[in-house]
Formats: sequence, C-alpha cells, structure tokens
Amino acid sequence: MSDAVLVTLDHEVRDADAPLLYADDLAVVRGDGVFETLLVRGGRALKVEPHLSRLVMSARALALPMQGLDEWRLAIDLAVEQWGSEREGAMRLVLTRGRESGGDPTAFVTIGAVAGRILDARRDGVSVLTLARGYSVDLSASAPWQLLGSKTLSYATNMAALRYAATLGADDVIFVSSEGNVLEGPRSTVVIARDKTLLTPPPEHGILPGTTQQALYEVATGRGFRCEYAALRPADLITAEGVWMISSVTMAARVRKIDGLVLPEPPLADEIVKLVDLAVETAGSESAEA
Ligand SMILES: *Cc1c(COP(=O)(O)O)cnc(C)c1O
Repeated sequence: MSDAVLVTLDHEVRDADAPLLYADDLAVVRGDGVFETLLVRGGRALKVEPHLSRLVMSARALALPMQGLDEWRLAIDLAVEQWGSEREGAMRLVLTRGRESGGDPTAFVTIGAVAGRILDARRDGVSVLTLARGYSVDLSASAPWQLLGSKTLSYATNMAALRYAATLGADDVIFVSSEGNVLEGPRSTVVIARDKTLLTPPPEHGILPGTTQQALYEVATGRGFRCEYAALRPADLITAEGVWMISSVTMAARVRKIDGLVLPEPPLADEIVKLVDLAVETAGSESAEA
C-alpha cells in the first residue's frame, strides 16, 4: 500500500491503490494524452497557473477536450489537502482522450512521495550523457503535428534514453539535434551560466517550454543576471561556468559530468539553487486563461 493521493476531476478523493482506468483508455493503448508534474511543498502546489496554462496548450495541440480550469484548481486543492503540509510531494495532472469506445476524457490528479533519485540529484548533481534525438531544430516549425512543444504521455523514448544512459552509468540525458544543437533533457530544461548570463535553447527548436526555467528567468533578471535564449552546442556546455537540469520537482540539478568529463563546481552553484527556490515559491500568481 502506498500513501499516495488520487483525486478525479469529478472531485472525488479515491483510493490510490485501487484500479482507475479502463483497459481501452487511449492513454494506455496509444499514449494519447497530456500531463503536468508539480512540486507540492508546505501544503500547497507550486506554480499552479503556469502548469495549467501549459496543460491547456498541450491539450489544444492534441485537440483534446478539457475540463474548466476551476475544476482542475479544485481537484488540485483537494489533493493537496489530503497530502498535508508535512513533506514535499510530486503531483501529476493527467488528461487523456478517454476510452476508445467513447465517452468523456479521463482526468485526474495524483500526489506521491518525491523519489529518492530526485533528492540525490538535488544534493549531488547529476552525470549526463549527450544523446542524438534524431531530428532537426526546424522540425517543430515544419511539422507541428509532431507535438514537440507539448507535454504528452508518449514518453516511451524519453524513458528509454534514461535507461540507456543508466547502462552507461549516467543519471540523465541531454538530447542533441541532428545538426548538433543542445535540445533538452527527457524531463528537464538545460540552463547554462556564462559569467552572469543564463542561457537556454529557444523553445522554437522543438523544446518543451519549461515553467521552472521561465520562473527562474523572471527572478534572475531582477537580480543582476542577463537571461537569454540561444542556440547551444555541446561544446558550450563544457566551457560554461555551470550547467543545470531544471524542472518542477527536482528544481535545479547541477551537471557534474558530461560524457565522462568532470565539470568543476560552478562558483554560482549555491546562488542558482537559491534563485530556483525563490522562483518556484513566487511564480504564477496570475490566473491561467482557459
Ligand atoms: C516536464 C519537462 C520539462 C520541465 O518542465 P517544468 O515545467 O520546468 O517542470 C522539460 N522538458 C521536458 C521534455 C519535460 O517533459
């Protein structure tokens, strides 16, 4: 038995250890759906509105019908209330096309414990492998149906990349485009520091726009950093003063090794962790639009 929380969008608190989905749910048989992952801390979910905005964008890209945002907000509140304020949790918002045989979309909110590997990554950083993604930075514009900027439930290749990296002793992956540009991690945004400038690849390059990276940019801009979007090469990672994998639950994981090469501890290490912390606590006070 787990102590996980499950709330469906009809605002019922359910037994998280009991089955929920039908065997013909299109997320199960096709990966046809979208999701969000949020950090729960101090009895509240963080950056709710940016996550809901992106959920709306992802759902639109898949032409997926979606419940009203107030329905999601209420389900999130109910789930957090069940989880309590004692410890951090990892929340998922899941929206699928529903059953193949018809009916409503499937939608639910879960909260579970933050995984041990995440606590390790926050504390010790991560070793990463650069891996070929196999497509060009132009694909997103020329083939919008590829859903490159959407957080879809079709993450089998992302998970396969992580397993492949693990067989070679690495904790995480940085995807590289066919022309050799840095893209993103399978579940995080790559941010590098060059002196007091933070750089990340532009979302137009087929990257998921990260809510944590965006929140970091908002906060860092007012605190003496220049924050820019730019094409990056793997060599830029090596020569940077710091490289981080940024995401909602892990927040900032410092990259300490790339393809076996040890990166020196960045002088900005503590500052970036503090900025991301501040960013996720303060971001997203404005309501998302449906
Ligand atoms: C979720 C995710 C991120 C990080 O997004 P956050 O909003 O910061 O959590 C980045 N890249 C990919 C591919 C992701 O799935």
